Amino acid sequence: MVDIAQQFASDNYAGMCPEAWEAMATANVGHEPAYGDDSWTARAADAFRDLFKTDCEVFFAFNGTAANSLALAALCQSYHGVICSDVAHVETDECGAPEFFSNGSKLLAAPSEDGKLTPAAIARIASNRKDIHFPKPRVVTISQPTETGQIYSIEELQAISATCRDLGLNLHMDGARFANACASLGCSPADITWRAGIDVLCFGGTKNGMAVGEAIIFFNRSLAQDFDYRCKQAGQLASKMRFLSAPWVRMLETGAWLRNAQHGNACSQYFAAEIADLPGVVLMFPVQANSVFLRLAPELVDAMRARGWRFYTFIGGGARFMFAWDAEMRNVQALAADLRDLAGAQPG
Ligand SMILES: *Cc1c(COP(=O)(O)O)cnc(C)c1O
Repeated sequence: MVDIAQQFASDNYAGMCPEAWEAMATANVGHEPAYGDDSWTARAADAFRDLFKTDCEVFFAFNGTAANSLALAALCQSYHGVICSDVAHVETDECGAPEFFSNGSKLLAAPSEDGKLTPAAIARIASNRKDIHFPKPRVVTISQPTETGQIYSIEELQAISATCRDLGLNLHMDGARFANACASLGCSPADITWRAGIDVLCFGGTKNGMAVGEAIIFFNRSLAQDFDYRCKQAGQLASKMRFLSAPWVRMLETGAWLRNAQHGNACSQYFAAEIADLPGVVLMFPVQANSVFLRLAPELVDAMRARGWRFYTFIGGGARFMFAWDAEMRNVQALAADLRDLAGAQPG
């Protein structure tokens, strides 16, 4: 095993970016009111209203599982169903938390080739059963980008939200890597959220370069009623809230949220281009965010691991490489060079 300076198994392997770190230090001076009544939390909520150019309701949670689960619980009753893709994080990686926090709302997973939900898949599940014996579909949740690193275009989002409107479904967006979607599309955050019919967004801070924390943003303010109580009951009301909110202030004011995402996206583009032509290596999905999924010959998987590289293979059987805000080009090059070497290619 060699000692590898950076791994690309998860964007959560990275630390805090300088802006988030500095905000923690600044917020650490003096006293501030507790439980979200502090000046940082007010500033962070205003910064989100500026970013999204609308008067949204903003809440903060410690992680994405809590943010998603509580947001979904706010959008439906316990006898309702939540339509998602079968590879959605809420379905595969949250240990039943959405069902738990909603007191039993059932996730209705739509089979998907590549992780994307479509209007047709939503309509199919929503109209599958109309009888009293099956949970009534009430919410759709989509991940932007998807767990497979793909981006819903503005048109795709508009089509999904039109279907939701027709069918009386609320629309939630899991934006654990929302910044990467904005960077990829080069659009205003408003264009792929409330202007496209999203009711609630979970905006990920952790994978974007913070230590901890996700923002839950209600564009449809009426859905936010009593959400503060829901957060408190779920153990998600931080008593020293300023340490969740201050990093957001600096991330948004300095533009670090977008720069970090642009960097991760650029690294994934670079890596994909470096290895695309190798024998035994197949790109599984279009590279649109900060991840690259490769179908690798089994001996290549083992050989890469033997060289010390870590990566997950649980999503679709592919090897996933994630590029965080701090990915260094020489390390990305080292990863690509090892893969080229092991795949038996000539140095590129
Ligand atoms: C990482 C991630 C989350 C949040 O996960 P936590 O570990 O609970 O913070 C949510 N959705 C998606 C798509 C993710 O990749």
